[in-house]
Amino acid sequence: MKLCNNCVLIIEDDQNICDECKSYIPDSINWDEMENKFFDVYNQFKGKGEKYDFIVPFTGGKDSSYVLYYMAKKLNARVLALTWDNGLIREKSWENIYRITRNLNVDLHIVKWDHVKLRKLFHATFKRFNKVCYCPFFVFLASSEVAITKKIPAIITGFSEGQREMNHSFSLASQEIEKERFFQTTSLWETFFGIALKVYDDESISKEILNEFFEKINHIKNNLPEDIMYPHFLPLSNYVRWTSFAGLEQTLKEIGWQNPAKTVSHSSCMIEPIKGYIESKHNLNELRAEISYMIRCGGITRDMGIEELEKMSFNTNKPPENLNMFCNFIFIDENQFLKYLTAEKTEYPTPELQQKAEQLKKGMVNSISWIMGVSQHKAKFY
Ligand SMILES: [Zn+2]
Repeated sequence: MKLCNNCVLIIEDDQNICDECKSYIPDSINWDEMENKFFDVYNQFKGKGEKYDFIVPFTGGKDSSYVLYYMAKKLNARVLALTWDNGLIREKSWENIYRITRNLNVDLHIVKWDHVKLRKLFHATFKRFNKVCYCPFFVFLASSEVAITKKIPAIITGFSEGQREMNHSFSLASQEIEKERFFQTTSLWETFFGIALKVYDDESISKEILNEFFEKINHIKNNLPEDIMYPHFLPLSNYVRWTSFAGLEQTLKEIGWQNPAKTVSHSSCMIEPIKGYIESKHNLNELRAEISYMIRCGGITRDMGIEELEKMSFNTNKPPENLNMFCNFIFIDENQFLKYLTAEKTEYPTPELQQKAEQLKKGMVNSISWIMGVSQHKAKFY
């Protein structure tokens, strides 16, 4: 296996540089102008909420910490930090969450789900789809619920440029679009989780788990307030650049941030090395692409990227150090883990269900890009 001389993508033996690096043109975005656009957005929402005008989804990782710092300290915005407990947030990230909100004097709202049901959901989705990372949806679910009930008009997310893999200039979506996003995304994921949960023969178990995550949002959907404001999801990285890791670390130290995992990305959640391992086993290259993007736009060096892949258990056939923890978390042992990892993913109860599941997987990719603000105005689901 040969790596690109410039980034960490895999290339053919007769290549030296990957196609992405060859065709990469540094963007010519005028970031001062973009930031001014963000001030316009800010002014548009300022004072429009009841008690808060903005939610910042907050994991204690570097990107969301920066967004919270930017909103609370630089703009002095009326902001609510929101954390959703996926059961796998690192202890040091929780410390960041409490310390930083205290230092910035920002209110913190924590959305919690029943831990056993959460773990059973992870079990089902891993067994059925080998998927283990649901934060892009959890952030949407938790933020939408809180934004609609507390009348908060905008959600400023911390998806980084690397995660979004490019910059996407867009204008603010209309309420019609946000409404569509809200309804489509929630029902899409409810169906997706519903299919995964069929791994439990007892239907009452799957129903109970599904209710834990969707009862509240469905209640909101059925009883929408008359003056409903569908929250706008905006990634700050669309307007403000913070790609340089070293520079960022300095700023974040001032508000008490400590690196939870000694990594340059995805530091807040224990799932990352597990995800990396699963991806590498399936020859998927999501993380590779993300890190390569960070290298290309100068955020980190190639050596840091290679080290990062190792830390994420990506480049190796060596299982991650915390595999045992994860197996316990989803009620299996390491043998079962490997069995589920290598099993044919065609064991669906019916061919119709399998077809639906395949369509849904595509829809989910689209819904995640939509939540991240990669494709903003055209929602193409399945
Ligand atoms: Zn490359």
